Amino acid sequence: MNIGIYNKIKESLPKNVKLIAVSKTKPIEDIEKLYNIGQKSFGENKAQELSKKHETLNKDIEWHFIGHLQKNKIKYIAPFVSLIHSIDSFSLLKEVNKFATKNNRIIPCLLQFHIATEETKFGFSLEECVDMLKNQEFQSLKNIDIYGVMGMATFTDDEQQVRIEFKNLKNIFEKLKKEFFSNNENFKEISMGMTHDYKIAIEEGCTMIRIGSAIFGERDYSK
Ligand SMILES: *Cc1c(COP(=O)(O)O)cnc(C)c1O
Repeated sequence: MNIGIYNKIKESLPKNVKLIAVSKTKPIEDIEKLYNIGQKSFGENKAQELSKKHETLNKDIEWHFIGHLQKNKIKYIAPFVSLIHSIDSFSLLKEVNKFATKNNRIIPCLLQFHIATEETKFGFSLEECVDMLKNQEFQSLKNIDIYGVMGMATFTDDEQQVRIEFKNLKNIFEKLKKEFFSNNENFKEISMGMTHDYKIAIEEGCTMIRIGSAIFGERDYSK
């Protein structure tokens, strides 16, 4: 783990950009170290791992769920999650609403868009999303609140391509804001940018970056 790089990133951030420290696969001790120097927002992509870390660590940590969420795992995070970045279907959103209702709370969510060329990444197309937003049933979901959009760019060294994909997400955000969320002041977040592309994301207007390996080191998935 690299506190020096963490501090550097923090210092370089514009005031309106929030850093989510992505601690997936990393031990409690690493999270505590960062927490103790003031980092309060962490991101995880596995519901059970997130739930365990929430149990163990200080309760004033804000937990962000950033990975593909399976419906049968919502129950692990619904009681406490601060923001789900990765709503990628209407059926998932309805299910999140159901568990939010059970927990008597409103769960903040971002709509994830498929902006990369890679087929493997999840997310709505603009068309699918607009269909959902126009649906009566969407308007009846009272226990979720849409805070904005999220996307992952193609994993490439071609900066121009990454920039175009981020611009696309920003345009989607503006369009949705205008057409569907002009009365929702919570709809203001654009979550884009990871270790290798966060500088471009900031230039293209993100409000949240999700940084893992630059801070915590490479992840070891073999363990
Ligand atoms: C793992 C992950 C990140 C962080 O990736 P790094 O390249 O390690 O910074 C960000 N966003 C999502 C959705 C992730 O799954």
